[in-house]
Amino acid sequence: MEIQIPGIHHVTAVTGDASGNVAFYTRVLGMRLVKKTVNQDDVSAYHLFYADRRGSPGTDLTFFDWPQSPPARPGATTIAPIGLRVNDEAALEWWAKRFQEHDVAHGAIVEDGGRTLLVFADPEGQRFELVADRGVPGGEPWPESPVPPEFAIKGFYDVTMTSSRPPSTAAMLTNVLGFRAIGEYGREGGGRVTVFETGKGGPGAEVRVVSPEDGQIGQVGIGGVHHVAYRTPDADQQVEWRERALEAGLQVTPVIDRFYFKSIYFREPGGALFEIATDGPGFTADEPESELGRHLALPPFLEPRRAEIEAGLRPIEVAAESN
Ligand code: ZN
Repeated sequence: MEIQIPGIHHVTAVTGDASGNVAFYTRVLGMRLVKKTVNQDDVSAYHLFYADRRGSPGTDLTFFDWPQSPPARPGATTIAPIGLRVNDEAALEWWAKRFQEHDVAHGAIVEDGGRTLLVFADPEGQRFELVADRGVPGGEPWPESPVPPEFAIKGFYDVTMTSSRPPSTAAMLTNVLGFRAIGEYGREGGGRVTVFETGKGGPGAEVRVVSPEDGQIGQVGIGGVHHVAYRTPDADQQVEWRERALEAGLQVTPVIDRFYFKSIYFREPGGALFEIATDGPGFTADEPESELGRHLALPPFLEPRRAEIEAGLRPIEVAAESN
């Protein structure tokens, strides 16, 4: 059987302010902090995961806390904006008001390439689009969220990436990862956008590739995306993806066991970092759903170093509730 990528697994970005990050994503956006752990390759940094109530694949927006990092620079090789989805246009209108009340930088509700969306940015300039998904089922709302369930963020709609070599990125997406090109349009203010979909397509399964206006190469940093991860149902299919990427000449890592999922990473030819991650075992592998995100979780191989790791982390402090 032909293997397929169902869609986005998670998107990982960079923050320089873990406390402010938790406050914004849980209190303002109403997402659930489902895992508070560390970057397994740099245990001095938090790795924070925000998602629906269960941390379902396709809903996880994650951050590395790297206060020493320079600010992100837009341009080729970077991934932005991140598309998050909500039910409908009524939800977009509700969010526009909420952003106003919370002093969140945002635009007007607009049409772009067939999507109705609202652009906004987090306090560090991380760029987002909130996209109406026309009621396509998505993540399960978190009951403790300050956001009413009918307006909740349901997961990813898509990501947009600026490729330094759009034809090579397109060839990689279609020939290696099995995406299909489904449309192309010019964006207001410039830039050519090609839309690709994978799996069943639609919300959570699209990527937009933008041709750079100038030769400017971007840079990962605070307020920018580090990588996008795509889903694979299991470890056997992940091995097949790995072989396929190797055959295509991509430099792909070995399978890395992240404990909550297994991962492979490679840089696509246009410069962005891609990951393919397994759906399981998921975030309830080490704590029950009711406890998700409440305590510092460490994978078993880091547990013996807990005291040292905790001592190296800045405490996360979130001021008293303000909806
Ligand atoms: Zn990742």
